[in-house]
Amino acid sequence: MKFNPEVHYHGAECARNHGGVRYISDGSCFECRAITTTRRYHEKRQEIREYYQDRYLSNRESMLEHQAECRRADPEKFRLRNRIYYRNNLDQASARRHVRRARMAAVESERYLRSDILALYPLCLSCGSDVALALDHVVPISKGGPNVVGNIQVLCKSCNSSKRDRYHEFRPAYLLAPRIGRLALTTS
Ligand SMILES: [Zn+2]
Ligand SMILES: [Zn+2]
Repeated sequence: MKFNPEVHYHGAECARNHGGVRYISDGSCFECRAITTTRRYHEKRQEIREYYQDRYLSNRESMLEHQAECRRADPEKFRLRNRIYYRNNLDQASARRHVRRARMAAVESERYLRSDILALYPLCLSCGSDVALALDHVVPISKGGPNVVGNIQVLCKSCNSSKRDRYHEFRPAYLLAPRIGRLALTTS
């Protein structure tokens, strides 16, 4: 924590022995308040998440119907709009797809950002190309491989599709685990 004499003072220790840093405004313990704030934040976030999940579930039918209608009305425009959305939301789209596949295959999954991995490995590990890069699971999800950073390598689309569902480690040993591992987000 950062002691700020305009906001804090050294007073009596609280019942939980947090060291006696208190707020001038109401005399409350600095650490106790931090703990409460964090807890409230998580509760609130859970609440917000549930709200959107509920809304999604109750609107799912009509949303899908609307989408189908748009597709029927103007297939070309629909495809284009999807493509633009996908391109503008690569991190989310990629994460959603991988998480869904991992859930279907009942394998382990962790959160990471496509852009973080591509920032570290901006080239195809097989041919060195820098176009149409994709995250590839070294052990495919379909073969029980987990959706975790340690199981991911960057390949271009053409190298990735020639690999198909076979296991092939393109990553040189020095690139493995320790450096990559840190990319995984610890918060959800
Ligand atoms: Zn306290
Ligand atoms: Zn390649």
